[in-house]
Amino acid sequence: MASPQYAASATPSVKVMVATESPRDLDDSRIQLDNLKRQLNRLQRTVRLAIEQSLADWSGKAFGSLLANREITATIHELLEGHGLRVSCPECGHPAILRCSVRPGIVDGVFVFDHVIDGRRTFHGGGTTLPVLRLVAKPPRKRPAESAKAPPGAS
Ligand SMILES: [Zn+2]
Repeated sequence: MASPQYAASATPSVKVMVATESPRDLDDSRIQLDNLKRQLNRLQRTVRLAIEQSLADWSGKAFGSLLANREITATIHELLEGHGLRVSCPECGHPAILRCSVRPGIVDGVFVFDHVIDGRRTFHGGGTTLPVLRLVAKPPRKRPAESAKAPPGAS
């Protein structure tokens, strides 16, 4: 039996980089990336509209209990988070997270838009049925308070 080392040495595989190709043109690469970004934006818009349309079937409805309402809002948030989306608050337009919160006298809870406005956590809305939901892109994290909370080395 031929040893593996012997077989390998029969085909020397030293790769020599030969600079026959000219370096990639930076402008070309930028144009290509811009095209890709435009393409992805179009796809993202299609995804957003598809989710918006599906959620429209639920607006004006409640789901029978606080637990069920919370399950729905959690599912919606999970779905949106997965696509980098948030709901848009109908009152102020800020990107928000839809939640179902307890209110005195309303056993099934109310639907609220949870968002941070001027550094303060604020809730808008408060209807007992799922509101019409408009979707917006999730805003990038940029506040210094946020980055301070990041684990070390995650700059
Ligand atoms: Zn709002």
